Amino acid sequence: MSATIIDGKAVAAALRATVAARVATLDFQPGLAVVLVGDDPASTVYVRNKDRAAAAAGIAARTIRLPADTTQAALLAQVGALNADDTVDGILVQLPLPPGIDPRAVIEAIDPAKDVDGFHPINVGRLADGLPTLAPCTPTGVMRLLAAAGISPRGARALVIGRSSIVGKPMAALLLAADATVTIAHSRTRDLPGECRRAEIVIAATGRPEMVRADWIAPGATVIDVGINRLADGRLAGDVAFEECRAVAGAITPVPGGVGPMTIACLLENTLTAAIARRGVPPAGD
Ligand code: NAD
Repeated sequence: MSATIIDGKAVAAALRATVAARVATLDFQPGLAVVLVGDDPASTVYVRNKDRAAAAAGIAARTIRLPADTTQAALLAQVGALNADDTVDGILVQLPLPPGIDPRAVIEAIDPAKDVDGFHPINVGRLADGLPTLAPCTPTGVMRLLAAAGISPRGARALVIGRSSIVGKPMAALLLAADATVTIAHSRTRDLPGECRRAEIVIAATGRPEMVRADWIAPGATVIDVGINRLADGRLAGDVAFEECRAVAGAITPVPGGVGPMTIACLLENTLTAAIARRGVPPAGD
């Protein structure tokens, strides 16, 4: 048996098109402000891609570039100005921030109604409580991929490997809200292969290249690979040994072309959601 490959590029393109179609019906242009401090090469590429995707969806994207020696006070003042700017519906401060700036202080300064990354404690709390909120983009993208592939988490045993605030914990909260029976594994988990073998849905988010092996996977299980790792030979690898696992799994995401493209698509969706909520637009009829 060979697994169904879940095509994240196609699902993301469809979601971006849905967002663009909804934006086109609005009598205002949603605004997204991305703040980039310093010139970390990976962050610069991410921010450029976010800008382009937002523009293509009809969202007014603005990137504020600040020098690497920006003080925390200056960054907080910038966030305050964006909070007060009524044309800005979504604010994203690109992480990681340079040393000397406390990312927590910056995240907590963002207006929760404009927190399109879903990292503000108010939004984290709402998600943990199962309330509607702006949820983090990458795990939201995973939920969209599962839905697009026709895989229901309801009642399923789901294993999330990784407990970061950006991926693992919100992933577990979203799966729980979708009625999965959720286990969170991490670097101190005693028998990770055993936990994995019990799972019907495995979400790998560890940053450990090709750690999840075929003999960890229950036949027919769904395997979602969040990892993006650059190997010494320049190749991109996920956290899952794709070639061997696809022979056992029922459905699997590739890297690249799986979860990766969903993150920006969900950022656009969150920006639209924030804009509609802030400006009191009634929900779409469809
Ligand atoms: P992180 O380093 O913050 O967290 C990694 C987690 O994995 C930790 O909770 C740790 O306990 C766990 N872990 C590490 N080694 C382990 C092991 N041997 N066994 C079990 N658990 C282990 O990383 P993150 O920010 O959550 O990102 C995880 C991966 O996802 C990375 O490869 C990252 O590049 C990728 N990522 C992708 C996207 C995307 O858009 N697709 C977005 C964010 C992160």
